Amino acid sequence: MNFSKILHRFTVTPSLPRELAGLQRIAYNLWWSWEPDAIELFTRLDPELWRETRHNPVEMLGILQQTTLEGLKSDEGFISHLAMVDDKLTEYLTAKTWFDKLHKGEKNLKVAYFSMEFGLHESLPIYSGGLGILAGDHLKSASDLGLPLVGVGLLYRQGYFRQYLNIEGWQQEFYPENDFYNLPLHLERSADGAPLSFELDLAGNRVKAHIWRAQVGRIPLFLLDTNLEENSPEDRNITTRLYGGDQDMRIRQEILLAIGGVRALHLMGIDPNVCHMNEGHAAFLALERTSILMEDRKLKFSEAREAVKAGTVFTTHTPVEAGIDHFPSDLIEKYMGRYYRSLGLSREEFLGLGRQNPKNPHETFCMAVLALKLTGHANGVSQLHGEVSRKMWKNIWPDLPEEHLPLTSITNGVHNKSWLSREMARLLIRYLGTRWLEDPTDAGVWRRVSRIPDGELWRTHKHGREHLVDYARKRLKEQLCQVGATAKEIAVADEVLDPDILTIGFARRFATYKRGTLLLHDTERLARIVNDSLRPVQIVFAGKAHPADHQGKELIRQIVRLSHQERFRHRIVFLEDYDMSVARHLVQGVDVWLNTPLRPLEASGTSGMKVAFNGGLNMSVLDGWWCEGYRGNNGWAIGRGEVYDDLDYQNEVESRAIYDLLEKEIVPLFYDRGSDGIPRGWVTCVKASLQSLCPTFSTDRMVQQYAENFYLPAYEQWQKLNRKESLLARDLAQWKEKIQRLWHQVRIDEVEAELTQEIMAGTKIPVTARIFLGEIPLQEIAADVYFGVLDSRGAIVGGEIVPLEPVSEIDDGSHSFRGELDCRFCGRHGFMLRVMPRHHELGTVYEPKLVLWG
Ligand SMILES: *Cc1c(COP(=O)(O)O)cnc(C)c1O
Repeated sequence: MNFSKILHRFTVTPSLPRELAGLQRIAYNLWWSWEPDAIELFTRLDPELWRETRHNPVEMLGILQQTTLEGLKSDEGFISHLAMVDDKLTEYLTAKTWFDKLHKGEKNLKVAYFSMEFGLHESLPIYSGGLGILAGDHLKSASDLGLPLVGVGLLYRQGYFRQYLNIEGWQQEFYPENDFYNLPLHLERSADGAPLSFELDLAGNRVKAHIWRAQVGRIPLFLLDTNLEENSPEDRNITTRLYGGDQDMRIRQEILLAIGGVRALHLMGIDPNVCHMNEGHAAFLALERTSILMEDRKLKFSEAREAVKAGTVFTTHTPVEAGIDHFPSDLIEKYMGRYYRSLGLSREEFLGLGRQNPKNPHETFCMAVLALKLTGHANGVSQLHGEVSRKMWKNIWPDLPEEHLPLTSITNGVHNKSWLSREMARLLIRYLGTRWLEDPTDAGVWRRVSRIPDGELWRTHKHGREHLVDYARKRLKEQLCQVGATAKEIAVADEVLDPDILTIGFARRFATYKRGTLLLHDTERLARIVNDSLRPVQIVFAGKAHPADHQGKELIRQIVRLSHQERFRHRIVFLEDYDMSVARHLVQGVDVWLNTPLRPLEASGTSGMKVAFNGGLNMSVLDGWWCEGYRGNNGWAIGRGEVYDDLDYQNEVESRAIYDLLEKEIVPLFYDRGSDGIPRGWVTCVKASLQSLCPTFSTDRMVQQYAENFYLPAYEQWQKLNRKESLLARDLAQWKEKIQRLWHQVRIDEVEAELTQEIMAGTKIPVTARIFLGEIPLQEIAADVYFGVLDSRGAIVGGEIVPLEPVSEIDDGSHSFRGELDCRFCGRHGFMLRVMPRHHELGTVYEPKLVLWG
């Protein structure tokens, strides 16, 4: 018997008394998760149940006994608390925002943000790590700033795995089911009440999907779901697990997210003019947008592509090629064959879009390359990662100098309200006012941190540490009970850690490059450090390894085993099942956050930023965001950013640097107390950290940069290219074809600079050039000089582009140009002439092979 066929389905929702209806409204808007009063409201309902449901208010409201709810009705304190939070939500949703105030002209901007994962709260487990948390924080800040944005993702039935450790310390995975009806999700329905659904073609299969919505403040997040009876078991599985399948599963998930996502939005009447791909997973979306334009406007692929490129933003997060999706051509053929043929592309043309060198048949189809070729706005997630990305992908733009590639950087941030402890937030409000809540990018406000009395700052942070120790003991006890430890072993959990001693946190994905065990390199020395009788140290670890990553699991096992040794038993703890809740406790309670990536493999890192907001300090390798954050007085750098060829040697050097820093600087600073018990030097360092890091490393700053550097310009270009039946897009594509045909005629005949023997800094050097343009009109080229200081190999580094002006036509098709080089710096200089096509509306246009250097 097939039970799924005979089952009649129905959904039971709690019957809330009218007086408590507000609870439902608040529970269904994830805004509550960054509003302390709302969190307190739910905690107040039933603290035990609150914990058991993983802080899931929707589930909790469903479980609460009707009698409890009836009782609350007459609890005046509760009712007025509820009314206050309800009003706050209304106020939040209607208040004037940053975007209203600054960019009120752009009423028609509509951004769609696509991501494979979103980390919004531990109760909605559809994230795995950094990428998802960033996406979640992006939506929250977009909501705070009032940005017209929607999110698009997948709704996984099992999400990412949950972790527990067996008695040996070996990671075990389990996959609890997400019950969508007990989560803050609405199924999108059409006017007649039937669920909205759309279809996709996947290798000849029709796959149907539903659309759910999670509300994140003002921002809707649409989540796609293929777990429908109409679909085959394999297709139902597309939305079962995040990063759980093979390549075949991965490409289907990416097609669903990207192509399905665009269709889902269209179905709901949402037609974004700017689409943002968070990592290459969503790159196919640009094809779907191109396809729609081709159909609607009767455009060719090359024409529609120009328009879509203008309105598409791409953020890359991965500094190594191996970390990026590459699909073999037969898989591309299987799933995208019909699709690219419908766009009028040949197999070679399409495969070329996924290769750095389109003609190289040995390159597999890379999603990041596809994304870079289909977007006009691309970035890495820290300055260093921007540089690394330009190096990685420079072959896509073979004729441009690296620092001028159209691939910039916007450094990540965190949504501070989601990560701040309640006590810390209160302290900041007391001394800084509330301005930092509305605009955390105002450095002036953060300077007021100096007004906080040292003792208060110290005690507030100590509170966080005490919380962490409590929490860790509780969790550890539960962990031990689960694996059947003896009563004696379980009793030890009550004695691990100490609320008064220097606490180091280390939590992250256990990928080998993050070097989770660097701190354990010399266990003898570590044992001396942690067990010092006057100045002890303790360490809290957490993190998951990908289920297929045996090396990562081995690292976890090493830590767990070490923590079982008598000498480390009280000082080293590994917390299972790292998620946003564990993360919050850690970042709010640790004194020092340790980060040991192998430079430059940590694209940004964000945990350290969460720690900084909470008054903890960072000790990190100079990689990712810390290259920008570290100022010498606001935390510690492990090494100076050296990269050695020998990995063992690098590990040796850097682990020694960690021990040295601990022994010579960090431990003494923490324990050097005044007569009042307060470590003045430490608190000074914490204040410097708050003042220097908080204004910069929030997602408010980050999302503002995305808006101003990318979304608004992308929107403008998109409008331009799409006006009047896409005339300009058509014109641009045709113009490019013409230039391509004529470009071989362009020739640099002469370049001359008036160089004297010795040039003083500040001198302006005139440059003239004679360029033969052939049939290309003068106004359709741009001549520049690329100019700057030479490095030891004679290459220009960090050069600037100086435009030359046409002065006269010498004879038929031959023109002279003139400009001035401003020598502001001393040293050996060099310059090169560069000629590129220039479009009358869009300015200088880069196309591979359409650049002439001389
Ligand atoms: C912040 C966070 C991350 C990302 O941490 P990184 O420092 O960027 O590696 C991963 N997982 C969870 C649960 C987090 O809260």
